[in-house]
Amino acid sequence: MDLFTKELLINFLFILLALCLLQILYMATYAYRSKELKGWIIALFPIVSLALCMVFPLISNEDNIWDLRYVPFILGGLYGGYKLGLIQIGMALLIRYLLGGLGFYSAAVVIIITGIALCILSKYYLKMNLKQKLLLSVTLLVIGITISQTLEAVSFSVHLTGWFLLEYYIINILGLIISTILWEGIHTYSVLLQDLIKSEKLKMVSHLAASISHEVRNPLTVSRGFIQLLFEETSSEKRREFASFALQELDRATDIINDYLTFAKPAIEKNEKININEEIQLAINVICPLSTMNGVEIEQEISDPEQNQFMTIGERKKFQQCLINIMKNGIESMDSKGGKLQIQLSGFQDTVNITISDQGVGMSQEQINRLGQPYFTTKEKGTGLGMMVSYSIVKGMNGIIHVSSELGKGTCFKLTLPAFQQQMDL
Ligand code: ADP
Ligand code: MG
Repeated sequence: MDLFTKELLINFLFILLALCLLQILYMATYAYRSKELKGWIIALFPIVSLALCMVFPLISNEDNIWDLRYVPFILGGLYGGYKLGLIQIGMALLIRYLLGGLGFYSAAVVIIITGIALCILSKYYLKMNLKQKLLLSVTLLVIGITISQTLEAVSFSVHLTGWFLLEYYIINILGLIISTILWEGIHTYSVLLQDLIKSEKLKMVSHLAASISHEVRNPLTVSRGFIQLLFEETSSEKRREFASFALQELDRATDIINDYLTFAKPAIEKNEKININEEIQLAINVICPLSTMNGVEIEQEISDPEQNQFMTIGERKKFQQCLINIMKNGIESMDSKGGKLQIQLSGFQDTVNITISDQGVGMSQEQINRLGQPYFTTKEKGTGLGMMVSYSIVKGMNGIIHVSSELGKGTCFKLTLPAFQQQMDL
């Protein structure tokens, strides 16, 4: 059983080394607040371990090489998507060719078959949970090794048999399981770090917004008082008219500050029962003029509205603002070409789901990741605050927002909120 020990450890070290470097890189991006890691940088790690594993194999003879190449190959292909998958196939074939021996042909068959399978399956792999991921990758590994061993057994006199073969399978499977778990751990850790940056920024902006709203509200109130006085004192029609315009505009400014900036405070302060059906209707009424102007049709779909009045807990005005922000973005995303804004409301066990989907420009994955970050906007006159506010309101209500989007097709915002049970008293 000790045939491979030294080489095995070295092979495994190559894989661990790559994972370790990846972890360091994630840490560095966090420490220096640089942008999220680009796909191709992450892609370097499996390629490097793949190359090292093949160059320093477990055992080899003049024709065949046995190593842990399938571990980084499968991991890289499944996590990295089809582009990395194709690069890996090219790299693996090149290295195997340079290493020489007749075994190249059987290795090439396996590399191409598993490589293509990886490219196809990677799309589904990323959506799986850990158990399913392990199951899929181990299955691919076993299939890959079995094909390569069968081809070798048919074509060469020297091939792995008995204990050696079993040991080779076990080592590969264990290596793959350990590496997948480590990779998932590193990835979760990096997502947590990104969330931390997001919430730090959010906290700063909330403080800033709260203080600005406070500072600006006072002078506005004072000015309003004086203009009100002028309005009452003067008898000139013209001046009264001007003063009344000024009062209206000041009220509007105060409203904006009250309704908008204060939303940046993450905590929901007032807890009241909210009838979601009613709030959606109110939000639609508010947004209606904008949708008509943009040629957008609003379509409502509420499951059994007679029976289902969905309730939740939070602050009504803030919740309405959140709905308006999301609907407004949906309408704006359709630009002037028009389309349909679909609003669905349904309940599931003790949660309420609101989906707001548009047929607009859509977003890339990077844009989706940045949603909710302060000042992120792609619009010329955008503030990049609407989404941040909406996210913080929903978070304050113990809900979550899930976004799915396809460039050029549209975006779907799904808000999941805890349902308030009617029979319970607040
Ligand atoms: P603003 O609307 O002022 O730009 P938001 O915080 O409301 O700020 O939105 C931030 C960005 O998110 C927008 O600029 C846009 O790029 C993107 N976005 C939000 N909702 C959608 C949507 N429904 N479709 C496409 N892009 C969207
Ligand atoms: Mg907006």
